[in-house]
Amino acid sequence: MSTISGPPAAALHSLSPSDVHFLQSLPKAELHAHLNGSIPLQTLVELAQNWPSSTEPHHDIASVIERLRSGVELDDISDFFLLFPAIYALTATPSAVRRATRDVLDAFLKPPSNPPPGFTYTPTPDCSYIELRTTPRATMHMSRYTYLTAVLDEVERFPPDKAAIIVSIDRRMSEAEAAECVEAAIALRDAGRRVVGLDLSGDPHKGDVSTFEKHFKRGKEAGLGVTVHIAEAKDSSAAESRILLGWRPDRLGHATFLSREHIALFFADVPKPGIGGPSNSNASVIQPWDPKHPLHTTFFAAYRKHLERIQKESTEPEETRQTLSFHFDVDKGARRAALRDIEALIVERGAYKPCIEMCISSNLLCRTVRSLDAHHIQYYLANNHPVTICTDDTLPFRTTLLGEYALLLAKPPFGLGLDHDQVRRIAQMSMESRFGKGRLGTSV
Ligand SMILES: [Zn+2]
Repeated sequence: MSTISGPPAAALHSLSPSDVHFLQSLPKAELHAHLNGSIPLQTLVELAQNWPSSTEPHHDIASVIERLRSGVELDDISDFFLLFPAIYALTATPSAVRRATRDVLDAFLKPPSNPPPGFTYTPTPDCSYIELRTTPRATMHMSRYTYLTAVLDEVERFPPDKAAIIVSIDRRMSEAEAAECVEAAIALRDAGRRVVGLDLSGDPHKGDVSTFEKHFKRGKEAGLGVTVHIAEAKDSSAAESRILLGWRPDRLGHATFLSREHIALFFADVPKPGIGGPSNSNASVIQPWDPKHPLHTTFFAAYRKHLERIQKESTEPEETRQTLSFHFDVDKGARRAALRDIEALIVERGAYKPCIEMCISSNLLCRTVRSLDAHHIQYYLANNHPVTICTDDTLPFRTTLLGEYALLLAKPPFGLGLDHDQVRRIAQMSMESRFGKGRLGTSV
């Protein structure tokens, strides 16, 4: 049985039965769900009961299970990663991985027998399609390859238009480990197994992403979709975001603290007035004449060129050319012409609008977004980015995909107050952004 609590539960409670029915009826894809963060609590409890504690005694499994049972309080995103050693210990064998995967897929793709505690709606499957992501783990009981085949065995119990996997590279991996994962992903996909993409994930404070660049490039060239967790933490480095955006991933996870400079440089957005950048700030987006703008140097060179041209072409008499208003007009003309050059440059580069994977409850509980109304989804919606709504890790964030969609539709302060058409469009974008679409040789 799924558990739902906190902001998504409050949003779902605030909706009318017909609104809940509307959300349930939308075909929607779950594109950002981590296998090990989505294992139902009851499954972990049962795995813990059968777990031979003598094998890895340094993990205090019981206290983590108890912590999970009572509801996790997260002060910082780093707290979340502390839960994982215990979950990993519980899923260290192929049979435990199979069992966990089966229960995660069932939770997303099959209707539960009852609604979550406290709710009365008739349950339906939480999503129409899932791309479940997982980092292949080697343990004393299995290789990374065996881990992936165990997950795939369960995924492939469902038809191709229901489930596929994304292979996650953990930021703490060595380059050789990352290469092994990418090669395994390609080999399995080539063997007809249901691998559709690669992901970069893990503690955002760890690792050097540039070491993985050529491996992600290799995966992309081999036809796998690429998504990366990017600008996830407040102190995520701008240099790192620039490297990751340079890979041109098909989708981006979170993108919470992406700078305005990078947005201007990579996305070619035309900022709408009154909507701040996605860095949780309401300040207006900077313009090319601001020295901080990434295209400032280009703009300034174009401005100088146009300034000289306009002055040269002017037929005004010398005394007029000395007046302040003449200089003012020339400046205005040069500025306009330089802006047109910048726009042409952006068009020439080609608009890059990757789908942003939004995990609203995850952001609120990890406190990377201070409140719903400050959530960066508002920026991306206003700037016509494809977005998709996802759960990230249903276990610690105690949410469901239905709960995340409730956060879109519920009226403030429980949700963003979007209308039915807007929410329907977001669900459509999730289906359009599937890596499996066109890659599985079916009508997915
Ligand atoms: Zn994630």
